[in-house]
Amino acid sequence: MIAIPRQKPIFRFAPSPNGPLHLGHALSAILNHDMAREAGGRFLLRIEDIDQARCTPEFEAGIFADLAWLGLTWEEPVRRQSLHFPAYQTALQSLIARGLVYPAFQTRGEVKARVAAGEARGDPWPRDPDGTPLYPPDDRLCSDTERKRLLDAGLKHAWRLDMEKAIATVGAPLHWHENGDGETGEIPADPRAWGDVVLSRSDAPSSYHLSVVVDDAAQGVTHVVRGLDLFHATSVHRLLQALLDLPQPLYHHHRLVLGEDGKKLSKSQGDTGIAEWRRQGWSPSELRRRIGL
Ligand code: GLU
Repeated sequence: MIAIPRQKPIFRFAPSPNGPLHLGHALSAILNHDMAREAGGRFLLRIEDIDQARCTPEFEAGIFADLAWLGLTWEEPVRRQSLHFPAYQTALQSLIARGLVYPAFQTRGEVKARVAAGEARGDPWPRDPDGTPLYPPDDRLCSDTERKRLLDAGLKHAWRLDMEKAIATVGAPLHWHENGDGETGEIPADPRAWGDVVLSRSDAPSSYHLSVVVDDAAQGVTHVVRGLDLFHATSVHRLLQALLDLPQPLYHHHRLVLGEDGKKLSKSQGDTGIAEWRRQGWSPSELRRRIGL
């Protein structure tokens, strides 16, 4: 009998080096590391540094130092997204060629001002699950001639997914398998709630959504373990996976670590950074206790 080699489970922790890691990141990193070990699988670290304006080598060095102090080990080489822009461009170009994305000329500031003006008149504007206003439809509806004129004039633009067209192209309803701390089972994906998501910006050649699905596939990730704050974003990831013919991992969205005020921790709250607890004399086991492990 021929033994068919079974693929080893592959987990990843994928922080962005745009601030110090906080206790929520510690929980995510430890869960990924320990689940990989228990499953006899592999644990990868990925540096999500597509936003070159906010990511720094110092924050990246801090990530390595914090994870090593926690006692975690990961495989080398570490994948750094800023070294893979051509891979995201290839995926974007394939969507452009299929007419599933369009150039979007309005800046975040312009959209914000328009939404504020509308809401001041009492017209509510639809928002995505994170509370960000959906992108207005004008650029999607603009004529080919006008679009060409704006592109030829060299106007700065992002590329946005034509959500309705993308959903229609996939046809069948999408789901993902969820095994985390919130709702579990086969979760129906609802990408429509996100509107025409951005896939690349004039100042960053890829977006979080695009690079995360390209990388999870490129690295053979089988288990995505991350915070519940990214639960709804999985709808967009499933849609992109279906459009780009990429495999779908299993998902586990874990509870968030809340601050003393009961609010979600953010990197801007430097005082809750792992490095700060370390300076205050905490041991890695005390930190594990603090985050409920
Ligand atoms: N880079 C993302 C973050 O730091 C996490 C991405 C993911 O796990 O899918 O929030």
